[in-house]
Amino acid sequence: MVKDLIREAAEAILRSKYLIALTGAGVSAESGVPTFRGRDGLWRRFRAEELATPEAFRRNPKLVWEWYVWRMGIVFRAKPNPAHEALAKLEGLGILKCLITQNVDGLHQLAGSKCVIELHGSLRRVRCVSCGFREVINEPPKEVPPKCPKCGSLLRPDVVWFGEAIPEDAWSSAMEHTYRADAILVVGTSAVVAPASYIPRIVKYRGGKVIEINVSESAITYIADIFIKERAGEALPKIVDVINELISR
Ligand code: NAD
Ligand code: ZN
Repeated sequence: MVKDLIREAAEAILRSKYLIALTGAGVSAESGVPTFRGRDGLWRRFRAEELATPEAFRRNPKLVWEWYVWRMGIVFRAKPNPAHEALAKLEGLGILKCLITQNVDGLHQLAGSKCVIELHGSLRRVRCVSCGFREVINEPPKEVPPKCPKCGSLLRPDVVWFGEAIPEDAWSSAMEHTYRADAILVVGTSAVVAPASYIPRIVKYRGGKVIEINVSESAITYIADIFIKERAGEALPKIVDVINELISR
């Protein structure tokens, strides 16, 4: 049955003129990066919603930074998995036009994806809370909370916290692609975090096809035209294989 859905998805993708993708923490689960809402989502009994907020950082920057040091450690050691690679191949074939991600791990770029819109920033950067200083990092800070080398204020991870706005340039380019899309692949996201969760809905209401891959149902499964209940690292490479088979005929 999953086999038929894989073929159906491959055919829908080939019929589309402007395919985009929206990815979430689930695409990186098979790289060993914990999701927020899965079973391994807890760190020292805190929920992500209690740590990834400006209030938590104001109250206890050291605690919040300790959590990020843990997450950065995982991300810097992680490698792209077959799901990231399959998405990069779809772009290489000229089929996937752009990928919008809620992930902050940079694994899509490492897999070779070129058009990647990071809605929620990146764990591979830090920024100053006061002076606008920004820096790319390739290891977690040694001491927490780290201080800005320019002005001495606190540095924070360059990510978007709950209650904060998505950077304007990221959102406007996401909307440009969303309004052109006639099909979207939604992979490994619970689709409960707005406004990212609006993206598949916009594509749907404009008449586009929604193809979802997730190990369990999400908040947008009810609008999916095709729902493949499987791990992203298994389903996506199979879809790419069928597409290759269909275009080589
Ligand atoms: P989420 O944790 O809310 O949901 C993860 C989803 O992935 C779930 O629906 C789950 O069923 C699915 N999933 C788990 N393993 C899967 C697999 N192998 N294949 C397919 N699906 C799988 O994550 P979210 O929807 O991305 O939203 C939460 C926020 O978490 C985002 O804002 C993001 O910034 C942040 N986050 C990012 C990372 C990362 O960068 N890797 C990790 C954790 C959280
Ligand atoms: Zn500064």
